Amino acid sequence: MSENFTRIPSRAAEIGGGVPVARTLPSRLRRTIGAWCFLDHAGPAHFAPGQGLRVGPHPHTGLQTFTWMLEGEVLHRDSLGNEQLIRPGQVNLMTAGRGIAHTEESLAGQTRLHTAQLWIALPASVADMAPRFDHYPDLPRWTEGGAQAVLLAGGFMGRQAPVVVHSPLIGVDWYAPQDVALNLPLDPTFEYGVVPLTGPATAQGQALAADELLYLPPGAGTLRLDLPAGTRALLIGGAPFGEDITIWWNFVGHGKPYIAQAQRDWQASSTRFGAVHGYDGPRLEAPPLPWAA
Ligand code: MN
Repeated sequence: MSENFTRIPSRAAEIGGGVPVARTLPSRLRRTIGAWCFLDHAGPAHFAPGQGLRVGPHPHTGLQTFTWMLEGEVLHRDSLGNEQLIRPGQVNLMTAGRGIAHTEESLAGQTRLHTAQLWIALPASVADMAPRFDHYPDLPRWTEGGAQAVLLAGGFMGRQAPVVVHSPLIGVDWYAPQDVALNLPLDPTFEYGVVPLTGPATAQGQALAADELLYLPPGAGTLRLDLPAGTRALLIGGAPFGEDITIWWNFVGHGKPYIAQAQRDWQASSTRFGAVHGYDGPRLEAPPLPWAA
């Protein structure tokens, strides 16, 4: 068991429509876990009809947005013409590559939202790939030591998720219908993060509050995970990313000039990002660059 870890508190942020989120990545303490470079957790929240998520047209580059839905339904639209409702238990994966724009909104009758949205940084070799969108309604599910596991990405304990990623990484959702004590095999070449989405939970003997992330550097061969009845935790991991990336606003890129160009292209309504049709509302404007371009 590794005694070598970092506890990363979440910070409060807001996404479209004023929906509060707990953000654990990136953090001053940790920028990436494998290629996972962003982790927002929204809910579980209840709201009046019409008061849900509403994120207007905005761009992305150099990353995959990975949406894991737990409660509620959210409609995705993008500039490739995709329109996809995501329901609980499903994953939406949008590969931005060189550029895409999208919207996300709770539909009219919705009153609940519980979701995790993560970003996966694309390695330089594929960072400028053509954008695409994939919806995964069915993921590998199994029971492990009394816990319900869903494999969100990568390979774990002999299973393989269909989700197309571009570097070695994993994601697993764990839900405990009863108290469980798990001993899970880890790949010692990977680094990992464990975060209770509804807590508390204990990982490697460390008591974690909801939305408190425990980072495990490479070298650990086993994860001891104790989940009290009714709790849920996310396990993410991957080979250390090893590339220097810049994350700013909705862009990931290799170097500030790339990000500055993306900002200019979005503000100029460049065809690089295309247009999202069917969303009733204004596009999101990029803030000014925080450095001299
Ligand atoms: Mn987005």
